[in-house]
Amino acid sequence: MNSLARNLPPNDAESPCSLKEFQGNRVALQALAFQQCAIGMALMDQNGRWLDVNDEFCQMVGMARAELLNRSYDELTVPEDIPASHTEQQRLLSGETDSVDLEKRYRRSDGSIIWVRIRASIVRNHAHLGTVLITQARDVTEERAIRLALEQHQSSLELALAGADLGLWHWLVKSREVRFDNRASAILGYAKDEVESRDQSVLELFHPDDRSRIASHFEGQLGGARQALDLVVRLRHRSGYYLWLLLRGRVTERNSKGFALKISGTLMDVTKWKELESRLTRLASTDELTGLLNRRAGVQALDQAIDTSHRQGRPLSMLLLDVDRFKSINDGLGHDVGDQVLAVMGAYLRENKRARDQAIRWGGEEFAVILGETDAEGAYTQAERLFDGIAKLADKVDRLNELTASFGVVSLRAGESSRELMKRADSLMYRAKAAGRARIEAG
Ligand code: GH3
Ligand code: MG
Ligand code: MG
Repeated sequence: MNSLARNLPPNDAESPCSLKEFQGNRVALQALAFQQCAIGMALMDQNGRWLDVNDEFCQMVGMARAELLNRSYDELTVPEDIPASHTEQQRLLSGETDSVDLEKRYRRSDGSIIWVRIRASIVRNHAHLGTVLITQARDVTEERAIRLALEQHQSSLELALAGADLGLWHWLVKSREVRFDNRASAILGYAKDEVESRDQSVLELFHPDDRSRIASHFEGQLGGARQALDLVVRLRHRSGYYLWLLLRGRVTERNSKGFALKISGTLMDVTKWKELESRLTRLASTDELTGLLNRRAGVQALDQAIDTSHRQGRPLSMLLLDVDRFKSINDGLGHDVGDQVLAVMGAYLRENKRARDQAIRWGGEEFAVILGETDAEGAYTQAERLFDGIAKLADKVDRLNELTASFGVVSLRAGESSRELMKRADSLMYRAKAAGRARIEAG
């Protein structure tokens, strides 16, 4: 027990002291409070020398009370932190302020260094002590380490978000608000806090065709969907055009009953990727030489058209055409001229088919045209129209005197598959070849 606390009368429950005695013992009680305080306490003179310290303080710095008394705090303070400590001490002594807060490092007796948060106050002209400094000190080494780690984590997160060009958003379910961080706002073309915050208004920023999908995905999250949110949708940039956004998120806060209170996530502008994707898709489905759909994409398109036609009970026709005596063009004028013929045919079909029709390079010098919403009669008209134009194409190719093709024209029958339809077109086309070429056969 220390000297100040020793002044307290013995704690004797059978002889309670009077109020007067109690008040008389106040100093002793204060001393006890000082001693037993759960945080480090130290009393210093104006020069920063310790007059008294409590057990907590001794434990904190790993030294006995007797070792500390009459020594200056400078002796324990890490040299780099001494100037700042002196500055604060001076502020107290000069009367500029009555209390200061600072964090500094002490070197403990075992050589380890601790961070201490100090609140120092000045008591002037105390009856017994004169002018003294009272300091509370708390070991914040661990707290600082956590804080630092958090700050580092925060800044690496910030770096990652900036590097990946990710914006953050939060949907506060109860207040029906959506909050976007600065980067998210900037991606959408808005200044900070300028973007809509009511969830209904935010929903209206999305492309009308995407809204119901977004709503159902978010409702799925509210309903406790286990999968994280992950969807690519279009949102109107402030300048009016649509951006493709990759939205990712999940529930980040629930109430005690498990209801979602907050859904948070990232958003990323994937417009460039989407454009690239559609360019790649286009490339993958286009025949390089003619610019028409290639056979794979053509079969897909035909299957789809047949499916729609069957479902809606609408007519559908197609024509298959094969360039006549193409081998002799290749042989007589060269393969390059043969290629030129195919390219000219491709351009011709692309430019002369109706908008709703789809032209395909079926293979070699064979082409197909899907005639949407067209019955047998209409198909024959279209075949004739295209047939008539082919003769004039010869002028567009060097040294080519004549160009013709043989056509097979078919209309879809009830329940017919693309394979069956194609087979009929093929045999009609061969019938035209057999009948002397440069003609249309329809069935
Ligand atoms: P038919 O009137 O009976 O259709 O006779 P054809 O000579 O047109 O038919 P055939 O099937 O005998 O010959 C087609 C030729 O087309 C054979 C092939 O080498 C050539 N061919 C296929 N693809 C290409 C191509 O991309 N470029 C060129 N230049 N020739 C091609
Ligand atoms: Mg041919
Ligand atoms: Mg052929």
